[in-house]
Amino acid sequence: MRIQSHPILDFQQRKKLAFSFNAQPLVGEQGDTIASALHAAGITTLTHSVRYDSPRGFFCGIGKCSSCLMRVNGIPNVRTCIAPLHEGIRVETQGTYAGLPDAEFQTHSKTTIRVDVLVVGAGPAGLCAAVEAASQGATVLLVDENPSVGGQLIKQTHKFFGSKKERAGTRGIHIATELEGELRGLEQQGHVRVMTEATVIGCYERRAEHHRFGVVQREQYTSYLYDVQCRAAIIACGAMENMVLFPGNDLPGVYGAGAVQTLMNVYGVKPGNRVLMVGAGNVGLIVSYQLLQAGIAVDRVVEAAPIIGGYHVHAAKLRRCGVPIHTSHSIKEVLGDDKVQGAVVVALDEHWRPKPGSEERITCDTICLAVGLTPSTRLLAQIGAHQSFIPEAGGTVAVHDQHMQTSIKGVYVAGDASGIEEASTAMIEGKIAGLAAAVSLGRTKNQKLLSQYHRDLEQLRAGPFGEKPRIAKTKITQLAEVPHARV
Ligand SMILES: Cc1cc2nc3c(=O)[nH]c(=O)nc-3n(C[C@H](O)[C@H](O)[C@H](O)COP(=O)(O)OP(=O)(O)OC[C@H]3O[C@@H](n4cnc5c(N)ncnc54)[C@H](O)[C@@H]3O)c2cc1C
Repeated sequence: MRIQSHPILDFQQRKKLAFSFNAQPLVGEQGDTIASALHAAGITTLTHSVRYDSPRGFFCGIGKCSSCLMRVNGIPNVRTCIAPLHEGIRVETQGTYAGLPDAEFQTHSKTTIRVDVLVVGAGPAGLCAAVEAASQGATVLLVDENPSVGGQLIKQTHKFFGSKKERAGTRGIHIATELEGELRGLEQQGHVRVMTEATVIGCYERRAEHHRFGVVQREQYTSYLYDVQCRAAIIACGAMENMVLFPGNDLPGVYGAGAVQTLMNVYGVKPGNRVLMVGAGNVGLIVSYQLLQAGIAVDRVVEAAPIIGGYHVHAAKLRRCGVPIHTSHSIKEVLGDDKVQGAVVVALDEHWRPKPGSEERITCDTICLAVGLTPSTRLLAQIGAHQSFIPEAGGTVAVHDQHMQTSIKGVYVAGDASGIEEASTAMIEGKIAGLAAAVSLGRTKNQKLLSQYHRDLEQLRAGPFGEKPRIAKTKITQLAEVPHARV
């Protein structure tokens, strides 16, 4: 299932790594995660559901769902979609009850790290927040649970829209490299410390002078628990893929669009050979085109709404390649017992109800769901930040003021975690949060730059495609003005 040739990406032969899966010897490649190596070897059932014992496969690809939990070297519940493959590891499917770790598993606690600013998540928002705060003289710790920094950018091979200032016209993968370059420069100067394969698990103390967070960093048999004391925290932990309800939606072969992108564009592995794309927003259209670039057939795109939600330039490109886009259509069910072998699609009436008799069976081995994202706010909820359901922001979000500060003093939010939008706006929100944190800590007084960032953000949100986020952010910042205790 490895991609052999690609118009943009170069998947050179990487070093081979031997490992075992349920005692069967397999070979993956350096740079793979465990799940991508299994996929490349044709193994798509990674776990079984606790209740019905039905097979489950890779779904989100960014460590946010539970569809890839496996036992690795005797450690249960490893998120194999983000755990790097290492030579000689023992990978096993785990039973309904994951069991305890083998005896050699160890946790070392508690190294204390003291910094001015903790940034959670190294996507475009977190990278910009870390660079901005460090450039203004704050000491920064940037933590991400993925093996590399860049968040969603590392899989986006298309050229970005937006403003030239926010790198429009540059491919997402190159924006990630540029931002990482800035970060590593500051790291070399000692202003930033970067921790990858590390998860911020919670906030355990909130005080006027500092907050204390727990961070767990993994290294094969060992986990290290850090006690991070920071004067400000910026939560930029992105979003989670949405799901659609239909029979068979948990079978291996049903993926979120981000997971399909991750497999193809980061690891060079095909998710399947023939895809039904569900959703004709920008993500559905862009990922369909990227599937074609990877040599994978797209049977069609179905879209429940009567109109295409994404940019027409992307839709036109797909149609030129012979991929039909059916609006007012959706998926009714998946065909197949233990993996996707086809699907039934159906036309919808003006009330979005299936039209009887319009069902059509199609043959495909992959269903790709591009049906939107929901902000990741679990950490913010755990911290106790005031939250509100804002449909235009994609779900429940932490209420924040225009400087991205939540209801908790010194805790900021930025990017998709603060409302679903785009990488370009995520970058500016990150800069605002980073700068506002540095200002509040007395590291800088650069109010002029802060105003400039606010103007940049306003400009990016101008126009019809910015309408939803404009409404969302107006509601959120108005709520922030409602008096509630800022702790
Ligand atoms: C197919 C597709 C195409 C897109 N095209 C465009 C485009 O053309 N232009 C554009 O502007 N935008 C585009 N976007 C949107 C853009 O990618 C996102 O809006 C952007 O990545 C959001 O940035 P972020 O930093 O908020 O989150 P993310 O990029 O999702 O980064 C969040 C990071 O936080 C980490 N994390 C989460 N929780 C924790 C924790 N507890 N501890 C440690 N780390 C944690 C995650 O590992 C992740 O790396 C596209 C998105 C998709 C899916």
